[in-house]
Amino acid sequence: MLSAFLFAVLPLSAQVVVVPGESVAPLSLPAQQAPSGIEPNYGAPMDFDVIVVGSGYGGSVATLRLAEAGQKVAVLERGRRHAMGSFPRGEEAFWEPDHGRFGTHNFRDLGNNVGWIGSGVGGGSLVNASIMLRKTDFTGFPAGIDARSLSRFYDRVEDMLDAKPFPVDDPSSPHFNTPKTRALMEAARRLGKKPVMPKLAVLYRENGEPVGTVRANKHGALQQGCRGCGECSLPGCNYGAKNTLDLNYLHRAEKVFGARILPQRETDKIEPLEGGGYRVHYKDPATGEEGSYTAKALVLAAGALGSTELLLRNRDVHGTLTRLSDRLGESYTTNGNFIGFAIGASQPIHPSLGPEITTGLEFDGLDGKGQGFHIFDGSYREPWMVLGRLIGLPTAVVKAIDFNMRTNQALGLFQPEGTLPLLVLGRDRAVGRLYLSNGRLSSSIDTSRNAAYYNRVENELSRVIHAMGAHFLPFPLWHFGRKIEVPHPLGGAAMSDSPFRGVVDDAGRVYGYENLVVLDGSIIPSSLGVNPALTIAAIAERAAEILIAQLQAEGRISPRP
Ligand SMILES: Cc1cc2nc3c(=O)[nH]c(=O)nc-3n(C[C@H](O)[C@H](O)[C@H](O)COP(=O)(O)OP(=O)(O)OC[C@H]3O[C@@H](n4cnc5c(N)ncnc54)[C@H](O)[C@@H]3O)c2cc1C
Repeated sequence: MLSAFLFAVLPLSAQVVVVPGESVAPLSLPAQQAPSGIEPNYGAPMDFDVIVVGSGYGGSVATLRLAEAGQKVAVLERGRRHAMGSFPRGEEAFWEPDHGRFGTHNFRDLGNNVGWIGSGVGGGSLVNASIMLRKTDFTGFPAGIDARSLSRFYDRVEDMLDAKPFPVDDPSSPHFNTPKTRALMEAARRLGKKPVMPKLAVLYRENGEPVGTVRANKHGALQQGCRGCGECSLPGCNYGAKNTLDLNYLHRAEKVFGARILPQRETDKIEPLEGGGYRVHYKDPATGEEGSYTAKALVLAAGALGSTELLLRNRDVHGTLTRLSDRLGESYTTNGNFIGFAIGASQPIHPSLGPEITTGLEFDGLDGKGQGFHIFDGSYREPWMVLGRLIGLPTAVVKAIDFNMRTNQALGLFQPEGTLPLLVLGRDRAVGRLYLSNGRLSSSIDTSRNAAYYNRVENELSRVIHAMGAHFLPFPLWHFGRKIEVPHPLGGAAMSDSPFRGVVDDAGRVYGYENLVVLDGSIIPSSLGVNPALTIAAIAERAAEILIAQLQAEGRISPRP
């Protein structure tokens, strides 16, 4: 019924749905050979008005809004398309092109921290837990960015992603009384705290809706309602129940406004053209095939690690973007990411029943202000695979551990239903730097500056876990190796009101360049204390409005003087 209505009201072009295994029509544009040095343009027509590099939150928002405004937009994404049902499992879930793996999960060892990021059309939305939480205090951000001015952009993103709180209290919902949600809510109540019920970008199953029912969302893309399998992150939702960016922003940009989404194009060299515009060189990570495209404007949206690396490489290795701010690489933060485990719970928690994250608790920061840190429920999917990647264990060892744990489980010696990973993020104190070492991205970040923060987090984790009737297992990687996993890397090309303090202005426009923009987690100037996706997208929505107005008024994009 709903799908019939949607099909009746949507424009015809929006009714074309992505089907599993769909491949992109080959571009009619010839791939060109990579020239060296700065290339004269001789007034040749550009391939596109705008090229967007990367298809995560910043990139998807920029793509849709620029395409809507009539720009001819192409998205160059290093990863693949992952249609409903095609998220690879096990080892194949990882993005490791050197080993012939092209999955969605990319672990990047940066030294004493390991970045965990997404790869594929939809970026981090393919691998994340889809929490959409608003930030309230924007101290340290450029003028003009605050909770009030961002409010309508937050509304816009939540509407596009159809983000809603988990209906655990709704007796008519199939998600009513999900055990792990109840367990954490009950722990909050025992500690005298009100549970945080964040909005999730998830299509919940409706009352009486059979599992596996396919319906069109308001953008015309096909989805199924959530079946509560806990696989939002690992391997990623194979049922189209998570509102990933390919099902909303990118879907509309492509099907309604004709944006070209070009997977398997990993960008490296960026050349400013003499007459204006940019030539962007890419390589297919699977075949090694190389080519390039030109555009009048370029939006880098390859994520905090990807965009910072691209800018560093083009400044320091290719020597093409030499006027970038000296602050490039600075303001790298880990959003206070931490983890702890509840084990041996007296009541079954069933960690993998429900979406990956459903509820949490909020704590004040060391400065006494709100949104100091949050503790959320996680799920128990392929933990040994993840641990293996975090500490660099060989595949054979990981498989042996996995086999051992499954055997213990079968013998009743280990019960995952009494186990729950608890995920933490917050306003921490360590601020580091991203830099190139032998052409590869590394970081220096003094996580010992977070000692007071981690101590406080562990004390609260322990209290929450005991209130759940379980035992607290601290994060072994931190205790034995002083290493942390970072699913929320931020900064590197931070926004600021001045080129002496940041790389881009409040709309992501790169200081020192025309028609060059960065819109993703790299421009976030500090740890947020909330999950970053919604704020990255809202800041991109705000920036898109500014960029389009400037393009219409001046025919170019240039940073604030
Ligand atoms: C396991 C996990 C769970 C998470 N859960 C949440 C959550 O619940 N809520 C939340 O708010 N956040 C969550 N996050 C974090 C969130 O997903 C990221 O902060 C967010 O995706 C960052 O958005 P972005 O726009 O910076 O870029 P990304 O989403 O990282 O996208 C960047 C894209 O650029 C592509 N790319 C990189 N380099 C190149 C290149 N050279 N050429 C072409 N393409 C390139 C990448 O493949 C990727 O698709 C989670 C992250 C992880 C790993």
